Amino acid sequence: MTLRVNRERLGQNLEALSQIGKSPRGGINRALGSEAEREARRWLCGYWETHLHKTAAPDAAANLWVVRPGDACKAKIAFGSHHDTVTEGGKFDGALGVLLATEILETLEETHTPTRHPFALVSFTGEEPNPFHVSTLGSKVLSGRLHRADLEHLENEQTHAPFSETLAALGGDLQKIDEALLDPHDVCAFLECHIEQGRRLLDKNLPLAAVGKITGIYREDITVHGEANHAGTTVMRDRHDALLAACALNLAFERALRAVDRDDVTGTVGQLLVFPNSVNIIPGAVVLTLEIRTCDEAILETLREAVTRAAAAIEAQRGVQIERQVNLNQAPAPMSPVLQDALLQAFSDFGQPPCTLTSMAGHDAANVARRTRAGMLFVRSNGKSHCAGEDASLDDIELAGNAMLQALLRLDQELE
Ligand SMILES: [Zn+2]
Repeated sequence: MTLRVNRERLGQNLEALSQIGKSPRGGINRALGSEAEREARRWLCGYWETHLHKTAAPDAAANLWVVRPGDACKAKIAFGSHHDTVTEGGKFDGALGVLLATEILETLEETHTPTRHPFALVSFTGEEPNPFHVSTLGSKVLSGRLHRADLEHLENEQTHAPFSETLAALGGDLQKIDEALLDPHDVCAFLECHIEQGRRLLDKNLPLAAVGKITGIYREDITVHGEANHAGTTVMRDRHDALLAACALNLAFERALRAVDRDDVTGTVGQLLVFPNSVNIIPGAVVLTLEIRTCDEAILETLREAVTRAAAAIEAQRGVQIERQVNLNQAPAPMSPVLQDALLQAFSDFGQPPCTLTSMAGHDAANVARRTRAGMLFVRSNGKSHCAGEDASLDDIELAGNAMLQALLRLDQELE
């Protein structure tokens, strides 16, 4: 007998969770520590209690864990994602992975299917940007990327509530956070299912992909120093406009990215601060962030060199100074070949062609991969994400659930 997830129940649960934090504009607001995020936790814990007869246990970072015992092994196989959202987010980002893991546990329970390994589901704390300015918070703690000292002085930028208080209210414990490091003997494999958030599966007309790598992310803080002056009395040839120089740099960056022309290489200037930012003053300085996402070290270097050449040319042409500082150089996270194989085999069980993609978004799985085998499954979405219009079909979601179930049973046999 091949196990199947319950499509109708999955649809209902996705709908029910999407009502929590729903705004009049149609998006969902469940930022870490908000009332809606706490309500989502209560809803999930209540569901697990009522339908799975399992009590969730938060770890020190308040990640929620539910464990179904195994017959033979000590190490767990864990599936999950996150239940928080961006501002005015969609109903699938994060929630899909948590509810698919829930559905799989429920299917195992109601069919009395034993597994050798304990099966765990997890919902991570604070994956998205939040008022504490740390994203993928829960999984960073588990991976050892964040320590008590990094979190001790954090406060909510809106309410000024200390992070320690928020964490305690969610069931975590800042004092014990350094002990929460994920042990590969405790969790031998982790799989996160997530909507793709881009258009690649849509364009390929495929429902599912295994993730091969999660992209590296490189960021620079760049300050362009020009000269503030009177917007009326300074003739055009005498200006050193920092904003125009920043624009020229951004356009040169775009030309370099377009010359690379790969779907797994992107770059963005997403934040600019203009000083003094006044209607009648020529911009004197601009602070901007420049970001490159790629798994390819050589391409990263090519793009950095292109920015260096462009910056030198703009300094000479416009009489400005451009100061650059690297603020992030996060290596790509390769996903475990064991999990990729289990997924590709499951695709083939359901007559689906093999498809492997690089994730161009960051995910909790990238942090978990630092400590144990990690994998990701992408489900085709409508190409919209981090907005109310985010969508995925129940057909694809059902297929993802069934493929995950097969992957789990295969991993359960294969792993020690
Ligand atoms: Zn997400």
